[in-house]
Amino acid sequence: MTARIDRSWLEAHPLPSLDDAQDKDGRGRVLVVGGAEFVPGALRLTGEAALRAGAGKLQLATVGSTATALGVLVPEAAMIALPADENGEIALEAADILVERIRRCDTLVLGPGMTAGERTDVLVARLLAEPDAARSIVLDAAALTSARDLAAQVARHDGRVVLTPHHGEMARLAGLDIGQVKADPEGVAREMARRYRCVILLKGGSTVLATPEGGLHRFEAGCIGLATSGSGDVLAGILGGLCARGARPATAAGWACWLHGSAGRILSERIGTVGFLARDLLELIPQLLHGKM
Ligand code: AMP
Ligand code: MG
Repeated sequence: MTARIDRSWLEAHPLPSLDDAQDKDGRGRVLVVGGAEFVPGALRLTGEAALRAGAGKLQLATVGSTATALGVLVPEAAMIALPADENGEIALEAADILVERIRRCDTLVLGPGMTAGERTDVLVARLLAEPDAARSIVLDAAALTSARDLAAQVARHDGRVVLTPHHGEMARLAGLDIGQVKADPEGVAREMARRYRCVILLKGGSTVLATPEGGLHRFEAGCIGLATSGSGDVLAGILGGLCARGARPATAAGWACWLHGSAGRILSERIGTVGFLARDLLELIPQLLHGKM
């Protein structure tokens, strides 16, 4: 049985309540790692989305050459400047800096704006190998590597990791062709969630949420305008923010796709079926989250 993610699903899977006595550390610390010289702005979307979803504290780690500009664009964030390789992408040596930092955050979001390749595979493996890593980890985009041992690295965190592939990324991850993923998204997501012992959010016009325990949930956004640059970066940030607030990964994933999809639907009506921007989604998140829309 596949459960539909709608308002009654949200009621049945509540987010942790807010405690008025909490400080910003208690509200949840998110570290987002990603970006490159030629994708300097992706982390703005992910980082701001995490704060809009209610996280208390934000750190953004990206290549040193763009870190200052990004920090000005997101003045709420503390920046971590990382070494870059000859292509302007995060270099492997960045792992030494990051291993230290991921012990001191609640949620790590890794991958937006990065490039898939062997170096990213090694970096992801180094961070996943850290036993005291963040309480929850979101792997998105290029961090969904095709490394053969990724399943074992993720499984070690036993249900605390969420993978957010679109169909193409899932095909790469699972070693399937994209037609096979499209033909049976629920079957593929369920099998990957079981094998990786993690939560899978398989994104598309219809998004499938699969849990390591075999649970299947589906969200129908019905909103073509969400198929736009940066849209997934926003989703990863909402998810990271909710995890940092203490939501269970599967609960956070269901809420994130509902918030993202509902914001898209509102913008479709306000602005146009297509043509709204990923950054336009951001301001709607708190209103949707607090039942004001
Ligand atoms: P990404 O491909 O990583 O940028 O993520 C795209 C986001 O937009 C995901 O959350 C998808 O679920 C959503 N999306 C993509 N295509 C559609 C569509 N046709 N209808 C509704 N949502 C979509
Ligand atoms: Mg993406």
